[in-house]
Amino acid sequence: DPVPLHAPQRQPEDPDAALRPKSLGEFVGQEAARENLRVFVDAARARGEAMDHVLFFGPPGLGKTTLAQIVARELGVGFRATSGPVIGKAGDLAALLTNLEANDVLFIDEIHRLNPVVEEVLYPAMEDRALDLIIGEGPSARSVRIDLPPFTLIGATTRQGLLTTPLRDRFGIPVRLNFYTVEELERVVTRGAGLLGLPLGPGGAREIARRSRGTPRVAGRLLRRVRDFAHVQGDGAVTASVADAALTRLEIDNLGLDAMDRRYLRMIAGTYKGGPVGVETLAAGLSEPRDTIEEVVEPYLIQLGLVARTARGRCLNDAGWQHLEMQPPAGSQG
Ligand code: ADP
Repeated sequence: DPVPLHAPQRQPEDPDAALRPKSLGEFVGQEAARENLRVFVDAARARGEAMDHVLFFGPPGLGKTTLAQIVARELGVGFRATSGPVIGKAGDLAALLTNLEANDVLFIDEIHRLNPVVEEVLYPAMEDRALDLIIGEGPSARSVRIDLPPFTLIGATTRQGLLTTPLRDRFGIPVRLNFYTVEELERVVTRGAGLLGLPLGPGGAREIARRSRGTPRVAGRLLRRVRDFAHVQGDGAVTASVADAALTRLEIDNLGLDAMDRRYLRMIAGTYKGGPVGVETLAAGLSEPRDTIEEVVEPYLIQLGLVARTARGRCLNDAGWQHLEMQPPAGSQG
């Protein structure tokens, strides 16, 4: 199993679709984002126009794809989805754009990974609803402009800072998604249990919520794993103690951290005496891609205050030492 159970990234076998909310009303949390989207959706509908382009940014598994689908559904328009690395050539993007119907949503996941040539094609498409294509080669080559139907581009990225400035500037509606609170995740878990027909005590929902890394995708996955334990070891009901036993067996600790998180913390604590240590060094030491460290591992550890990102590198905070039940070495600045 190459992808860890607790990883917030999408996994091919995830039955995510079954748990996806289908309307803004069903979507839990992200209050500010939902209220703003409600206004923009209603306004675009009332005018019969395409909604302005939207950029969702935030860590994996927080609901970017789900919200894009919901926006299309609430606008009452078609939804086409692709992702940055999949669009290899300018012609692939041109084919997608020319096949849209008026006011449709085109969703591009991992939009920061678009190839620069493709990105150039996107600028006039977003701004002027036009495609500038070069026809022919050499001296006889000429540029033709093709008009596109009005459409809404919804881009998603794990880090807004990875987008080029011209691309970022073309999104009228930037929306940041934040980690969910335990209360919000409790609602996500309770709703999921209802959809799965799983008897779930409030203590069980809370225990899963507490240990889901602030991430609905993780909450859904843990719920399914805990269900398996409940069937095999108990009477099928998910109580707090069943959930705790199952999650502990899965090596998810009381803060919701998994084995990878703990390896990361221990490396800073042990090998680098609390830091500062550069992210490249950590990535090499952990044999993980730097992107995974920065986009998946660190955001939640920083949110919990266990680690700080400083100009000189990563440092373990007091809370990090406490969580590891270790003492900072004598004479360190902490
Ligand atoms: P992202 O695109 O940000 O990686 P997704 O939109 O694919 O995340 O969401 C992952 C899963 O988490 C979805 O399948 C959905 O079941 C669940 N989910 C995400 N956000 C919510 C939410 N606000 N309420 C309930 N479930 C959610």
